[in-house]
Amino acid sequence: MFHVKPPTRRLHLFDLDGTLIRGSAAAVEISRQLGLVDEIAALEEGFLRGLTPDEFAVQARELWSALTPEQVAAAFDGAPWLAGIREVWAEIKAAGDHCAVISLSPDFFVERLLDWGVDTTHGSLWPAVPFTEPIHRPGILDARAKVRIAKELCAGYGVTTADCVAYGDSMSDAELFAIVPESVAVNADHHLAGLYRHSYSGGDLREAYALVRNSAA
Ligand SMILES: [Mg+2]
Repeated sequence: MFHVKPPTRRLHLFDLDGTLIRGSAAAVEISRQLGLVDEIAALEEGFLRGLTPDEFAVQARELWSALTPEQVAAAFDGAPWLAGIREVWAEIKAAGDHCAVISLSPDFFVERLLDWGVDTTHGSLWPAVPFTEPIHRPGILDARAKVRIAKELCAGYGVTTADCVAYGDSMSDAELFAIVPESVAVNADHHLAGLYRHSYSGGDLREAYALVRNSAA
């Protein structure tokens, strides 16, 4: 008997807001459909004063009380996505690797990316659109939850955080960047300074992926 060590599989973990969506966020694009860009900007400024993600969700839920499924679809379709997302996910999967999106944004928006070929998505648990239910605060994710979900995904795929590649742009990605060996700061702000392995500025995810394509241990 002999044993052939299988090739190491990698798990690629993508942030959504500011990373796959360049210079914007799901909440901004949803608000744009409702004519509430200024209102959501004011709410997002609350994060600077310590507003928690669950309180943000409660207030956004009030702001978006009339949101329709058609407006969610329009927000998704109109968002400033990086080019090449589907192509990168297809290449990752063709290589035998896995890919996931972990986002604090509403699950009803994030899960639409399954249609683009990502293996799995995790977003904050929101009520279905149109809203009839209130926000269930424990379902709203925070930055720490990203690490917890990443570790759960690793267990599910039979890999470790040492096999992960993280792509992110801001403070909510810092904890994840700190525990994975490969990371790509995508159009990132100063919060990730010194934490990333690679950095990319531009509009095409294929170029960001090229930085880590051949770096598997
Ligand atoms: Mg982000």
